[in-house]
Amino acid sequence: FLEGKRALITGSTSGIGLATARALADEGAQIVLNGFGDADEIATLCEELGATHSGADLTDVSQIEDMMAGIGRVDILINNAGMQHVAPVEEFPLDKWDTIIALNLTAAFHTTRLAVPHMKKAGWGRIINTASAHSKVASPFKSAYNAAKHGLDGFTKTIALELAGDGITANCISPGYVWTPLVENQIPDTMKARGMTRDEVINDVLLVKQATKKFVQPSEIGALAVFLCRDEAQNVNGANWSVDGGWTAE
Ligand code: NAD
Repeated sequence: FLEGKRALITGSTSGIGLATARALADEGAQIVLNGFGDADEIATLCEELGATHSGADLTDVSQIEDMMAGIGRVDILINNAGMQHVAPVEEFPLDKWDTIIALNLTAAFHTTRLAVPHMKKAGWGRIINTASAHSKVASPFKSAYNAAKHGLDGFTKTIALELAGDGITANCISPGYVWTPLVENQIPDTMKARGMTRDEVINDVLLVKQATKKFVQPSEIGALAVFLCRDEAQNVNGANWSVDGGWTAE
């Protein structure tokens, strides 16, 4: 049902973004991938999905502007690229703070402001921001990430109100822990910050609040993004959808 629609999914060479790109491609959307990775693997992905790829670094405004100009119109914008860093606030590296805010929050502002003029002209658009359970609640040692994701929720609500009259919806999807490189890579620092073993981090930190005691699968996020693109979801606007096994219900 997405034939003729062009979807840009940021941070889609891996994890949740890639699963979302696959789900939208299955519905016929023309996919633009973005993100870093091995050139051969990215070329294979492009072939598999009939997609194009932009390697823009989304912490750099001029690279975002070049990417958006190169793509042209975007009907479905999935702001998904993100990164994490785990450290006590007084030791939080300054460059990590700036990069996390730039990638997880500011990049979504830039892609949105550049995508909206076409969406308005077309009278249709979907903006889906991958936030996090950490857009609703906090955990210690993730000050930059939690600040960025709470900000992304506020940004999404704002544009949802601004664009509601133009056939454009804006929503957040907020996963709990999804088994992707982003989660795997934070285990060593969490072990250090909390003085725990790997198994303790998985069971007593990552899954402790996820009532299902299961990691979310990236494909589950892709399936929800597909739903939000449907006409039946035209009144789902400014919402922040939890997919966290019950974590934020507590
Ligand atoms: P991931 O590490 O598997 O993928 C991140 C993607 O972002 C990759 O494609 C990477 O190349 C790209 N990327 C990184 N830096 C970039 C930059 N400067 N410019 C452009 N692209 C860049 O991560 P993931 O777990 O799939 O996370 C995707 C999103 O989901 C993130 O916003 C993350 O915060 C959010 N999220 C993840 C989880 C989880 O448990 N994995 C939970 C909640 C929210």
